[in-house]
Amino acid sequence: MSVIDNLSHIDDRIRQACHKAGRDPQEVRLLLATKTVPAEQIATALDAGYLLIGENKVQEIKEKYEVLKDHRHETHFIGHLQSNKIKELIRYDVTCIQSLDRVDLAEKLHQRLVMDQRKMKVFLQVNTSGESSKFGVSPAQAAVVVQQMAAFDTLQIKGLMTIGLFSAEGQKVRACFQRLRKVQQEINALRLPNVAMKELSMGMSNDLEIAIEEGATIIRVGTAIFGQRQYPDSYYWNENSQ
Ligand SMILES: *Cc1c(COP(=O)(O)O)cnc(C)c1O
Repeated sequence: MSVIDNLSHIDDRIRQACHKAGRDPQEVRLLLATKTVPAEQIATALDAGYLLIGENKVQEIKEKYEVLKDHRHETHFIGHLQSNKIKELIRYDVTCIQSLDRVDLAEKLHQRLVMDQRKMKVFLQVNTSGESSKFGVSPAQAAVVVQQMAAFDTLQIKGLMTIGLFSAEGQKVRACFQRLRKVQQEINALRLPNVAMKELSMGMSNDLEIAIEEGATIIRVGTAIFGQRQYPDSYYWNENSQ
């Protein structure tokens, strides 16, 4: 199967899930999770009209930049961000950081953005599975953290991101996504200035249907489009791997 065939299969899955959930497929954006994928292969997908990509490492954004800059697209950052990488990340047209998960990181990002006189869209990453291997604030802390982050006026807080539990038990996966939506409702009810939590970034290759049924506005898909990765995801998701 080619990347293009895989993409059209994902489109079908999105359409079917939306149909089942009574949602408009236009409400769900497909983000291509492109970690470890060569720039030329990403370019093929961009040229076919898929415009949103997500990268996990600043280094990879940098390496692919020259090839991708001539292909229309938008890049979100979806990986664990270290504060010493902020300055570099900001140099590469990243339009949204989906993985903001610490107030001190938000503050450093804010300081950098003030210096550069610009703003940045951000999502708060929430750990809805309770697994210690995943980054993100706990659902219980999320509202307080957002309240603190809202003080940084260069940050446009647009939504929440989560990685669901890896499990064959759909009900447990669904509970993660329901938790994220509940956090969204809780935060929106606070009516914080500068905060409008419209986006829910959740759902990946194996669980995108469940995420769409639970209200995802962005799904992030890698393996089902580009094939198995060489590195285990723990390489990207664990504190020890940085
Ligand atoms: C790799 C990755 C994905 C995509 O996962 P697949 O199972 O390959 O679809 C989604 N979100 C994040 C944060 C990722 O790191």
